[in-house]
Amino acid sequence: MPIAVKGNISTVNLPTTCSSNILRDWVSPYDASVVKLLKDAGAIIIGKSNMDEFGMGAYGPTYNPVSFLNNSTNTDSLKNETSNRDLDTPTDDMFVPGGSSGGSAAAVAANFCLSALGSDTGGSVRLPASYCGVYGFKPSYGRFSRYGLVSYASSLDTIGILGNNLENTKTLYDLISSFDPNDATSVDFSSQSCSQERKDLEGITIGIPQEYYVDGLSQEMLECWSNGIKKLENSKAKIVKVSLPNTVNALSSYYCIASAEASSNLARFDGIRFGKRSEQPDLTEKHPLYSHTRTEGFGPEVQKRIMLGTFVLEASSYESYFGKATMIRNMIKEEFRTCFQKADILLTPATIGGAPTVSGIKINSNLEGGVSEYANDVFTVPASLAGLPALVVPFGAKKTTFNNRELQLPLGLQLISEFGNDELCFDVARFFN
Ligand code: GLN
Repeated sequence: MPIAVKGNISTVNLPTTCSSNILRDWVSPYDASVVKLLKDAGAIIIGKSNMDEFGMGAYGPTYNPVSFLNNSTNTDSLKNETSNRDLDTPTDDMFVPGGSSGGSAAAVAANFCLSALGSDTGGSVRLPASYCGVYGFKPSYGRFSRYGLVSYASSLDTIGILGNNLENTKTLYDLISSFDPNDATSVDFSSQSCSQERKDLEGITIGIPQEYYVDGLSQEMLECWSNGIKKLENSKAKIVKVSLPNTVNALSSYYCIASAEASSNLARFDGIRFGKRSEQPDLTEKHPLYSHTRTEGFGPEVQKRIMLGTFVLEASSYESYFGKATMIRNMIKEEFRTCFQKADILLTPATIGGAPTVSGIKINSNLEGGVSEYANDVFTVPASLAGLPALVVPFGAKKTTFNNRELQLPLGLQLISEFGNDELCFDVARFFN
């Protein structure tokens, strides 16, 4: 199976740059455990995919294939269409793939490969899956080895899968679910396998978190969600309302914890232990080598996160920020536990709407210091904070036209299941077909 691998997952014969200047041309001396498992099973790694630098925030210059596909998934027509366009001056029919695993999702959506590896810290597999119309899976924390994944926020980071269909996504899942002594947070789930062929969903209760009806949820996503609920109800599932009251605090908690861990993890890129060393350190500065290497090496979003993370970990702000964020995280975990006493699995939107345009994102990033983009993660970060498995299923599309050309912007729904019960996501997703 041809597979693309995200640029932050180590491979011995292709560069692992995390799309960062600081790791430009860097080649890992070893394969990540998940890459080794795939290679041993006969997979062909076709290349490394583009991403947001170190997995953070701002969307990179990959384009969503939906911008060019014209309802046909023919790779040749895609090539013609892209070569006719000026990619530097995007028009209003050019959309972002979402991030940070946008390159992996775009590669699958464009039929360059059947599936791809990504990473998901707060939604980086699930959000691009929804925008590009492919499957996106994030496992229970600890199910897939992180050995060889360049760390962003270690307590949240997971490897994830993007797939063109459910079967290929599940094939990769089966191949890379493996306990790994090289990863201190790896969990052995081998005794828990419970996938079942079901003829319908009789006996399965689907929870609908009421707090996910957020302001700003688009009309098309609202419709997609209620169609999804009906679809599962028609397959004999029981639908119940559940409550996750701390959903409103999830983004603040996530961005505080993720930035704190990033500031610590990225300290290793100093031009001495790791990272491309600056050739022109200004010797009049206090730490010339460090500051120049890191100023040249990291882009603006990464610098912002490092500063924010360092701030929230300072002794004087620790209790008011990091301490509170951790408290909210524990409350969110507890609320999910309560939901799973009433429901087997939860069904939510994956995003607030279809993919934004490239030009729209540029305008937005200049507003409010660029934090408005973070709001897109509202549905994905709660499962990350709680370490739960979640699967995004492409379901429906938003129709739009540009210059008389009809475009279908994909939408995705998210299934969130209990810790360790990853397979139930796949079992239920079958009923969306
Ligand atoms: N947008 C989120 C962030 O920037 C998601 C990142 C991820 O899952 N890698 O932190």
